[in-house]
Amino acid sequence: MGESTALPEREAFILTKGQKKTLRCDADSLAGCVSQRACVYCGARVVLNPITDAVHLVHGPIGCASYTWDIRGSLTSGEDLFRNSFSTDLKEPDIIFGGEKKLAACLDELVEKYHPPVVFVYSTCIVGVIGDDLSAVCRAAAARHGIEVLPVESSGFIGNKSAGYRAACDTLLKLIEMPPEEAAVRRQARQASAGRPVINYLGDFNLAGETWIIRDYLHRIGVAVNVVFTGDSTCRELKKAPEACLNLIQCAGSMQYMAGQMQEKYGIPYRQVSFLGLQDTADSLRIVAESLGSAEMAERVEKLIAEEAAVYAPQIEYYKQFLAGKRAAVYVGGGFKAISLIRQFRELGIEVVMVGTQTGRKEEYQVMNDLVEEGAVIMDDANPAELERFLLEQGADLLVGGVKERPLAYKLGRAFIDHNHDRKHPLSGFVGALNFAKEVYSTVCSPVWRYLNATR
Ligand code: SF4
Repeated sequence: MGESTALPEREAFILTKGQKKTLRCDADSLAGCVSQRACVYCGARVVLNPITDAVHLVHGPIGCASYTWDIRGSLTSGEDLFRNSFSTDLKEPDIIFGGEKKLAACLDELVEKYHPPVVFVYSTCIVGVIGDDLSAVCRAAAARHGIEVLPVESSGFIGNKSAGYRAACDTLLKLIEMPPEEAAVRRQARQASAGRPVINYLGDFNLAGETWIIRDYLHRIGVAVNVVFTGDSTCRELKKAPEACLNLIQCAGSMQYMAGQMQEKYGIPYRQVSFLGLQDTADSLRIVAESLGSAEMAERVEKLIAEEAAVYAPQIEYYKQFLAGKRAAVYVGGGFKAISLIRQFRELGIEVVMVGTQTGRKEEYQVMNDLVEEGAVIMDDANPAELERFLLEQGADLLVGGVKERPLAYKLGRAFIDHNHDRKHPLSGFVGALNFAKEVYSTVCSPVWRYLNATR
């Protein structure tokens, strides 16, 4: 495994802390690299798919629907239509003669069979190439059936996964649209009748029930959650979003734009939070109290932190004794999550020696650079060959990534943690911090690595 595994054009996107250079990010993926951020539609579907009562129809070849099948970790407390994956299954004749008729027929069939309040129609790469008029087909279907049929303009070649996040947010903004004056009146009435501040929570997709954990914390400190974008949400609920007095953003990569637009249009301020790790969870709850300006709430926050820390901190400390001194590599979607993970690993005595993201921003990479030790590798939009090279060169014991990285880590004899949408246990909040510590322990300290390394 040598230097040759990094292409010269990729060198600007890889930085070793201590080097005098600026990391390049937010640029097009290099042609020929297996990049996970190149799929615009994937970004859009990640954001919208947790809406439980909608039909999510992928207009494209069947492979596009299949590519995003690993995002199905969102849980629901009610409707479960979103758990189906619908596709127009475009084939060669459709590519040649156009797929609009097929799309219209699919919409008719789905509406007749499932009676959804809203259908989201996702555009994929090939739809951008053949030029199907998604908006016109959706408009006609909406008129035929008297429901909302919303095109998600996520065809390829308009950017990367971040463009997909933006396309999803634009669609959501259409879904929740109301005149700003009406929003202001409704907000005032809602806040007054609730008897406690009513806020929105953005960028939590209820993976393994994480939204429910944070909802509970917010309830305990005296805050009501109006709408969650989009974990365990319905279209009807989402339409109430302009009634909130504050937007909290957990996943900044996907929701910063949405929050900015809501601030501009409806005057709703926003704050960024992270509920990963003990410290970040505690700090985030303090941010909520500070933003809502209540001393009483600040007291309730401190009480909650003390109660939760008393339960979970000693248990996490137990696992720390086995983990201190280990080295971790992180490759996740967004920059904010990567930053939280560096801090969370430090709570376990583990140093992050390699960190990368699919859609991190310049300022987030700067924070990562400030947090990691000298010699750590930071990279944007990594491909599997680079991950492999730096996992080995940096001597990482563990890789945190998405399901697509799992085989790569195992084949290299490294422990692995899935921190993406397909996991089965919550990693948010105080309880999530304990789950994380347990999982790190069970994978890093598994006896299997001893046997594997003995055969080498
Ligand atoms: S939309 Fe494009 S990049 Fe995404 S899975 Fe389909 S073909 Fe691949």
